[in-house]
Amino acid sequence: MTNRSFSPAADTLDEIARIVGDKGVIKGDDAAPMLTEWRNRWPGDASLIIAPANVEEVAAVVKVCAHTKTPITPQGGNTGLVGGQMPTRGEVLVSMRRLNRIRDVSPLDNSMTLEAGVTLAAAQEAAEKSDRLFPLSIGSEGTCQIGGVISTNAGGVNVLRYGNTRDLVLGLEAVLPNGEIWNGLKRLRKDNTGYDLKQLFIGGEGTLGLVTAASLKLYPRPIEQLTAFVALASPEKALQLLSLAQAGPGDVTSFELISRDALALVLKNIPQTRAPLADDPPWYVLVEFSSGEKNALGGPVETMFAHALDDELITDATIAQNEREAHDFWRLRHSMSEAMRSEGAQAKFDVSTPVASVPAFLADADKAVNAACDNARIIAFGHMGDGNIHYDILQPDGMSLNDFDDARRRIEDAVYDVIAKYDGSISAEHGVGIMKAGEIALRKQPAEIAMMRAIKRALDPDNIMNPGKLVDTE
Ligand SMILES: Cc1cc2nc3c(=O)[nH]c(=O)nc-3n(C[C@H](O)[C@H](O)[C@H](O)COP(=O)(O)OP(=O)(O)OC[C@H]3O[C@@H](n4cnc5c(N)ncnc54)[C@H](O)[C@@H]3O)c2cc1C
Repeated sequence: MTNRSFSPAADTLDEIARIVGDKGVIKGDDAAPMLTEWRNRWPGDASLIIAPANVEEVAAVVKVCAHTKTPITPQGGNTGLVGGQMPTRGEVLVSMRRLNRIRDVSPLDNSMTLEAGVTLAAAQEAAEKSDRLFPLSIGSEGTCQIGGVISTNAGGVNVLRYGNTRDLVLGLEAVLPNGEIWNGLKRLRKDNTGYDLKQLFIGGEGTLGLVTAASLKLYPRPIEQLTAFVALASPEKALQLLSLAQAGPGDVTSFELISRDALALVLKNIPQTRAPLADDPPWYVLVEFSSGEKNALGGPVETMFAHALDDELITDATIAQNEREAHDFWRLRHSMSEAMRSEGAQAKFDVSTPVASVPAFLADADKAVNAACDNARIIAFGHMGDGNIHYDILQPDGMSLNDFDDARRRIEDAVYDVIAKYDGSISAEHGVGIMKAGEIALRKQPAEIAMMRAIKRALDPDNIMNPGKLVDTE
């Protein structure tokens, strides 16, 4: 990637500002949070920050940018963890927050059509009002937006049952890099007419265009849910428990692995949290079951846990007795990122392997990290049911930042080599952004990188859409 800065001409910026009007130009105190991201790793530098009001304004802005070869960085809720939403070299920052209308909710069709700037929480609420479920759920759902979750193909805690964002999108509306509006909002469950173009934008991280609206799949709301916190001796036992649970009552909607050290960090740094079990085992699993029938879960799940105890698969378990307790269990899981913020520098990994390889990955990665860095503090947790582990290494106590920066490079190579051994992915759900753009160029197959570059060049020949992110064509 080059570090070339962009300096759009003053009259280009004036023209863009005229299109969006006074309300659409963001300055001063309003601008500052848009130029800082969650990890404080990539400081923002934008030549102009705008928030168009509708798809026509977005298209008019992109036309000007295409004509003048002015680079654009799209931004949703700014919760991305890999820097994709940050303009860092003077790009025009296009915030989607004013495109926030719910266009249609159709319970009979089990679908809804929303604009890109609707928050994920508002999308879930819109579905709930029509007695339907929009199942995507992630820790940042109060702030992240539909356009952002689509552009990062967000995962979260319900992937096991409902799939990633990629599985939940029926159609898209997008503004292409030449300013043309593509209306692909068909709500078809079947359409076998060639390349599935919407999939290019899902996980495209804003490099192929701006997503302006989406038609999304809805589901019947579960009638009953059961949340449990389980103690066990090892990830191998967790894998066996997953298999047992999937053959048991209802659906397993979430299956989250949490190490003892990860839980301890939450209990230490997040106020009003408490350990759900008296036992202090090396590993925990937060598991959620759901069912379309009443009273289908309680008894059968208790019996399943009793057998698992007898067979020494688990060492303890507690079932949430009400919504409050279930919420408290989930708060422990959702607070992991927050709990790590005050723990110094970190090497963070969001990796995946085939589900059955998770225990072996964790064992090998621990060995490799300990060889690369003395006294590494390893925090492992994540969506074990999807084979997706968040594997984070905290700066050891007493190690200087400079020394940890050196160690970080060794740690990254070590972990990515283990991932390669298990044929895994170096980015399971957070995407590539700035953070991993160099790494994927090395770690994906040359044929894959060549296809990605060819698609990017075909749709965005002047590389104006989010340059420097995901795939390098400069
Ligand atoms: C506490 C916390 C918990 C999280 N948990 C999870 C989790 O469980 N699973 C998970 O997958 N992620 C998780 N994330 C990461 C993040 O929330 C997701 O990546 C989310 O999808 C980003 O949405 P956003 O609207 O904030 O997008 P942004 O951060 O604003 O942007 C992300 C990327 O999408 C592009 N983009 C945004 N909007 C558009 C658009 N309309 N058109 C084209 N491109 C666009 C941006 O250019 C950027 O490349 C978490 C983050 C935090 C802070």
